[in-house]
Amino acid sequence: PAEPDVAAFTTAEVAALLPRPTGESDKYRRGVLGVAAGSPRYPGAAVLTVGGALRGGVGAVRYAGPAGDAVIARHPETLVSRGTPAEAGRVQAWAAGPGLGDDPRRERIVAEALAADVPLLLDADALAGLDPARVRARSAPTLLTPHAGEAAALLGTERERVEARRLASVRELAERFGATVLLKGSTTLIADPSGPVLVNETGTPWLATAGSGDVLTGLAGGLLAAGLAPREAAAVGAHLHGLAAREAAPPPSATTVTEALPRVWRRLL
Ligand code: AMP
Ligand code: MG
Repeated sequence: PAEPDVAAFTTAEVAALLPRPTGESDKYRRGVLGVAAGSPRYPGAAVLTVGGALRGGVGAVRYAGPAGDAVIARHPETLVSRGTPAEAGRVQAWAAGPGLGDDPRRERIVAEALAADVPLLLDADALAGLDPARVRARSAPTLLTPHAGEAAALLGTERERVEARRLASVRELAERFGATVLLKGSTTLIADPSGPVLVNETGTPWLATAGSGDVLTGLAGGLLAAGLAPREAAAVGAHLHGLAAREAAPPPSATTVTEALPRVWRRLL
């Protein structure tokens, strides 16, 4: 039989994939996520990305960048350093991009994250001007998480065209970059270079709020570091993110969505 074009991901499938520590676990074996996000202008993006990451089932989060003081103030369990990814210690995955803005170190940060031989999630400002050849040349898998505007820039087209052809656009991006691509919007589409596109519909329009994408980046990055494949990390992350937005008291903010994540985990574990 022909492969279906799209597939859903059920809450039961998500629950089965949640990383669970065992008696043999220690914080390093549970996975360490490196986060390269935030800038002097956008320190909050670092706080939100780390907050999502701490709810992604990892053993530790390593933050590298200029917003370490803001990160520590909100998330004292974070390992912070001021350097770039190549200067940070060993991690099992990197998540890079939210709030890098026009930080002069942006290009170096993205280049070093691309060079790391661990799974990598690129979002937001890390997607600007991203060269498909650099992504295809990576030794470990890559997950890109654009919204429609970022997807349009990556494809060299207009946002309206992506919005009118979401399924074809996410497929084209996955093929062009040789990566897993999560396209954000009212539904979330997740494509690999081949195979059916996964659709997540747990979200709510309340997620259209500042910083909610940064939380998803940390969350899906954390799941990558905990050992999920990019397709699973993307699907589980989007699913939990949507459920948390429904769980949070209305109107949710990116912070209250993050705070609702443990209640969603508790129901599923
Ligand atoms: P960003 O654009 O990076 O801030 O990410 C926004 C987040 O909110 C993504 O997870 C989107 O999928 C989600 N989102 C935005 N608008 C909607 C909507 N109308 N319905 C459901 N989810 C949405
Ligand atoms: Mg964003």
